[in-house]
Amino acid sequence: MNIDHYRVAPNSKIDLSAWDPNDKRLFDGSKKAGEAALPALNKRLEALQELLYAEGKHKVLIVLQGMDTSGKDGTIRHVFEGVNPQGVRVASFKAPTPLELAHDYLWRIHQETPARGQIVIFNRSHYEDVLVVRVHNLVPPEVWRRRYDQINAFEQQLTEEGVTILKFFLHISKDEQKQRLQERLDKPEKRWKFSTGDLAERKLWDEYMAAYTAVLERTSTAHAPWYIVPANRKWYRNLVISHVIIKTLEGLNMRYPEPEAGLDQIVIE
Ligand code: AMP
Ligand code: MG
Repeated sequence: MNIDHYRVAPNSKIDLSAWDPNDKRLFDGSKKAGEAALPALNKRLEALQELLYAEGKHKVLIVLQGMDTSGKDGTIRHVFEGVNPQGVRVASFKAPTPLELAHDYLWRIHQETPARGQIVIFNRSHYEDVLVVRVHNLVPPEVWRRRYDQINAFEQQLTEEGVTILKFFLHISKDEQKQRLQERLDKPEKRWKFSTGDLAERKLWDEYMAAYTAVLERTSTAHAPWYIVPANRKWYRNLVISHVIIKTLEGLNMRYPEPEAGLDQIVIE
């Protein structure tokens, strides 16, 4: 899979209406075949994560962003199925608490960044501070406007300290969101996920797309790239994200630590 297709080059102009949420050009097969391809990728990711943990050198940060129902939770469940929970952690960012609001917006974020040998998945992130915050005018424009540069500098600093950063925008259509919200209403086991507040956000769809466009144009860098993932099809979304993560981990050229000398002579009595 040539996943570079979905990578946003630094300083690109982005027209999200030209990115098809139904696109599946990198997989030549049915939904059934696509779903069947995932377990092998899960196994590869499991092995790579084990190596990352054993080597204890690299730190990996995966950022998931997208509208409500875009599949952030589902991605975590499916893409990371089978990985050893020791060494992988999810950090979910909700509306900030009073304590968090009393600090700068990166304070709560920095605390959750990965340690050596760890993968941390951000379910929402510091990008909310230029998304929901921008759309709802939670801070004045001059405050959110300078955050793009601040975020780039923050991510650059993390990279220089050994963090590998991958950022995924789960791109669904407005119509797909309607169906997924309806499903939350219709299925008793999904109702807990329905929030009437999501409907208010849905009304601001165009404003959110404008805010996402600014994020993709201004914060996709060589060291912390954004991928625009076609996410109307859950199976395709999972394949694309799995491939990007696997390819990135393979590129780290990790090795198991050198064992102690003389292990070959040992006889266990
Ligand atoms: P969920 O992901 O469905 O659990 O919802 C989390 C909610 O928290 C979303 O509505 C986000 O927009 C909101 N949220 C996350 N970060 C921030 C932030 N920095 N400022 C305001 N709201 C936020
Ligand atoms: Mg929600």
